[in-house]
Amino acid sequence: MKILKFGGTSVGSAERIKGLLQIVDPSERQIVVLSAVSGTTNALVEIGQAFLDSRRDEAKKLIKSHKDKYEGLIAALFTTEEGLKKGKELIDYHFNLIEALGNDLFTPTEEKVILAQGELLSTTLWHFHLQEIGVPSVLLPALDFMKIDEDNEPVVSYITEKLTPLISEHPDNMLFITQGYICRNSFGEIDNLRRGGSDYTASLIGAALGAEEVQIWTDIDGMHNNDPRIVSGTKPIANLSFDEAAELAYFGAKILHPQSVFPAQKYNVPVRLLNTMDPQAHGTLISKNGGEKGTIRAIAAKDGITAIHIHSTRMLLAYGFLRKVFEIFERYKTPIDMITTSEVAVSLTIDDTNNLLEIIKEVELFGKVGVDEGQTIICVVGDFRANTHGYAARVLDAVKHLPVRMISYGGSDYNVSILLDSTHKTEALRSLHTRLF
Ligand code: ADP
Ligand code: ASP
Ligand code: MG
Repeated sequence: MKILKFGGTSVGSAERIKGLLQIVDPSERQIVVLSAVSGTTNALVEIGQAFLDSRRDEAKKLIKSHKDKYEGLIAALFTTEEGLKKGKELIDYHFNLIEALGNDLFTPTEEKVILAQGELLSTTLWHFHLQEIGVPSVLLPALDFMKIDEDNEPVVSYITEKLTPLISEHPDNMLFITQGYICRNSFGEIDNLRRGGSDYTASLIGAALGAEEVQIWTDIDGMHNNDPRIVSGTKPIANLSFDEAAELAYFGAKILHPQSVFPAQKYNVPVRLLNTMDPQAHGTLISKNGGEKGTIRAIAAKDGITAIHIHSTRMLLAYGFLRKVFEIFERYKTPIDMITTSEVAVSLTIDDTNNLLEIIKEVELFGKVGVDEGQTIICVVGDFRANTHGYAARVLDAVKHLPVRMISYGGSDYNVSILLDSTHKTEALRSLHTRLF
């Protein structure tokens, strides 16, 4: 069984939705995961925010203008009267629901229900289109099998347990369709896997079913060796190891959701990144043995980082100090990304600042604390084993004209990370690109 995921631009118009069958072979047994039509989740975020801020009239205007787009989409997608009628009923249902949710007490719980409507719409629209043209398919509701626990971590065993019988009910069906991104949380409420989460859905399903392969179809020919939105002349990488891909996704390569490599890696399911606009292109194959010895592979950048600097003479010659500091972050469920230490100080970075004030209050009990917001981690991924090629020096040389705040090297064999103020990100990415590739 293969899992194919199509992102927002790959289902961005009626033409694209119809064109999915140029890639999807409906005679092969597979699960197709769809994102929302491009722009939809952003619009739903705006609508939810407007309701949260009690800007109801504005929310209603946004709902109306977004619904108009869908009216245009169904007019171009369906050719029969019956198809059009079903499409119309579908969008009426979802947009009425969105509006109704805003009429009552509106909390983040209702907001998440609104955010889920994009994937529910795109998958059902494609399913109706396939019905109209006589291609059999079964729609699997992600809310019946995709689940996160109290720590917002997906539960693979639960997915296996719930999804397997749903598929077995249709032994003769080949094409299954489901929603990316959406799930239920530990309270059974509608929730999601964070922005870009459809990649994660596909990889989780691949892991849960022990799939042969997960294919992520998007608008570019695979993982490039630098951010193509910022640097010109970037190139696709044919093969990556799970570790390299995980590092790049986690540290900002937007083509993949930050967590999405982990389930595939754990269950050893190869992931292919492919281009919907150029289906013949090789793209990137992420697999166990995809690494390449002795080279620098790629550069990625993660914004929105906060650096915390703790200066404490109590650290001098003391053991157990770092544990006490880390325990504070653990208590607030705040992951630490980078860390550097000296004899009397430690610097670390976080990207989740929801509990920053509480954390600082507690850390201040240990010494003087400084906080820098608006930082960027630049991550260079490659074969740094024993640094036989002098790569670390070349990385630092490329940013020697910029004020580097932290450096992390030696934590793994395949990563050097530097932290700098986000205002220097573009220059750092470009300079690294010219010197390293
Ligand atoms: P989708 O909607 O299909 O999920 P995304 O917009 O989430 O697509 O991801 C694809 C985009 O990621 C590309 O269009 C590209 O601009 C951006 N991107 C950022 N870094 C990289 C990279 N290193 N390699 C490829 N694409 C990248
Ligand atoms: N539609 C969701 C988003 O825009 C999920 C995804 O596209 O992967 O974040
Ligand atoms: Mg994406």
